[in-house]
Amino acid sequence: MPQATGGRPVPGRPCHERTGRPDEVRQVRGFWEGLGLPGLVDVHTHFMPERVLRKVWRYFDALGPLTGGVEWPITYRHEEDERTALLRAFGVRAFTSMLYPHKPGMARWLNGWAADFARRTPDCLHTATLFPEPDVEAYVREAVEDGARIFKAHVQVGAYDPADARLDAAWGLLAEAGVPVVIHCGSGPAPGAHTGPGPVARVLARHPRLRLIVAHLGMTEYEEFLELAERYPEVRLDTTMAFTDFSEKLAPFPRRALPRLAALGDRVLLGTDFPNIPYPYPHQLRALERLELGDAWLRAVCHDNAARLFGLAPVRTAPGGA
Ligand SMILES: [Zn+2]
Repeated sequence: MPQATGGRPVPGRPCHERTGRPDEVRQVRGFWEGLGLPGLVDVHTHFMPERVLRKVWRYFDALGPLTGGVEWPITYRHEEDERTALLRAFGVRAFTSMLYPHKPGMARWLNGWAADFARRTPDCLHTATLFPEPDVEAYVREAVEDGARIFKAHVQVGAYDPADARLDAAWGLLAEAGVPVVIHCGSGPAPGAHTGPGPVARVLARHPRLRLIVAHLGMTEYEEFLELAERYPEVRLDTTMAFTDFSEKLAPFPRRALPRLAALGDRVLLGTDFPNIPYPYPHQLRALERLELGDAWLRAVCHDNAARLFGLAPVRTAPGGA
């Protein structure tokens, strides 16, 4: 009898197999192999302390007001090691641990957890977060010095104004360090007191070099956030949940804006919201593919743009195709 392995994979049986998703693995790998990529980079995945994640799942289950009141079944309700193993089986070379506080006094603790997670998960880009509070500049500086490579800001859940004066020094520091910040600032799936392009535009007016990655392509204010990306060369957009059947029903992307999205192809990054998504992972990839913006656009979005931004080592294929 094998001993209890404390959540570690049982030898001879890959951990991701416990999730029972061989078809999805085949579809995802087929997608990037078909594009000639060495894998995917997913800048928007959620890993957080277990009890926080359970709370988030309960929130989605209960159709909390921030889900917009729609059914939101979590597809990947697996143990943490199964979730990381599944991303690896998909061929996701690098991912993130998006986490965020909903109140003061929480960010420093989350950052400690995320630093530890990154140390034990080498393919996770060390992630940190922030909140408008007196010690924010100090802990953002500590996180950057500790090697944080990406931040997450959640304007809707945190219910704060990103242009709050208490965040000013932190934004300045992140702009200076060139550390990207994934920011949920659009009004989808439900608006908040400070969502929408206005507050973010005020932040960018003060910190034009800040590397904001607008989550969900700015859903529901897609065109206004495209405009900010067009105006500020360091602003990027992540694809998280955009163009999926689920989102197109709630907040369809305006077809007239597709040429603008194509033109920003070097600043659009794959994000998915794994594991908190109400559909299987390959659907996000299919949703991007069916835009018909071309293979070069897909290669840039699903891998190359993020690989460049985060300085991922190029993957060499053996000469002669061996
Ligand atoms: Zn998210």
